[in-house]
Amino acid sequence: MLEWATQKVPLDSPSLRDIVSCIKTGLDDNFANTSVDVVQCPDLREPPFNLAAPGLCGNPRIADVGGPANLHPFPKWDRRYSFLDLATLMEMPKDKGFLIGAGAGDWTQVGQNSELMPNLSYEGDAMKNLTHYAKVEKDGSVLCERYAPECHTGGLMANLFGSDGSPGEVLKITAAIRRGKLNFTDAIQAALKDAYGGRTISLGGVFVIKQGKANMHVMPDFSKEALETGEDVKKWLRFFDMRAPMVCLSVFHSHDPGLDLRMEHTHCFSDHNEGGHYHADTTPDEVSYEAYFNIAEVLYRIDRPQK
Ligand code: ZN
Repeated sequence: MLEWATQKVPLDSPSLRDIVSCIKTGLDDNFANTSVDVVQCPDLREPPFNLAAPGLCGNPRIADVGGPANLHPFPKWDRRYSFLDLATLMEMPKDKGFLIGAGAGDWTQVGQNSELMPNLSYEGDAMKNLTHYAKVEKDGSVLCERYAPECHTGGLMANLFGSDGSPGEVLKITAAIRRGKLNFTDAIQAALKDAYGGRTISLGGVFVIKQGKANMHVMPDFSKEALETGEDVKKWLRFFDMRAPMVCLSVFHSHDPGLDLRMEHTHCFSDHNEGGHYHADTTPDEVSYEAYFNIAEVLYRIDRPQK
């Protein structure tokens, strides 16, 4: 196993019940209809979620792996990460684990650069890999489909929520009809920041965009030109309005405890071959979200790019 440098920060996490009211207040500033409750997680293996484990409980943790500095100005070809190695570095139990999140695909698998929606679990020697990826086709269209089940690697970067994948209590959040400026994850993140300031609250989980459309980007194949600035990257990315229903795997933090974290990262997939990196819903009168999140107890910064 490659020994990626790893920093670990245990978090002083509040309970799920502690954060209900502040999230509700933040969402009410941005959406007409909202609810926030602590519930028993529904079986996330079932539609519409289609995840690789039933729940988000047991040893909840988040890892930020690599980062955009591995992509630009030029890709770092040695940055390919095995999710099983990452699970080990995240100190997940050997016999049972579940990883979901947002990252980049392994180009040696896909044949080009791509967005990745990691969604895999293991129990004993049995692996269940329901990961999706999305790529830009030669004609400029998007294709989102299942990753090869035997492929357990990603490239460049990943933001991962890890747990035992067990059933248990989670946060259920619904929001519909957007009236404010913030998208779904930003509204929750801002509410936590308002309430907790310099204390880090880190959430991971899944949400479904049930109605409407959302703006997503998909990375095209690697640029031959150097991507020097944020503006260069923005011009290089391809943006699309994609149709609900979309399943979105999400990790975000209210505060960076000095780990050079990506503060929010959400990737979405569907069974209609659309998927990508979530920016915002684009049909505010129609949009409807349903989310299940858990709070991480510990953060891992793995292979943090050198400044
Ligand atoms: Zn992304």
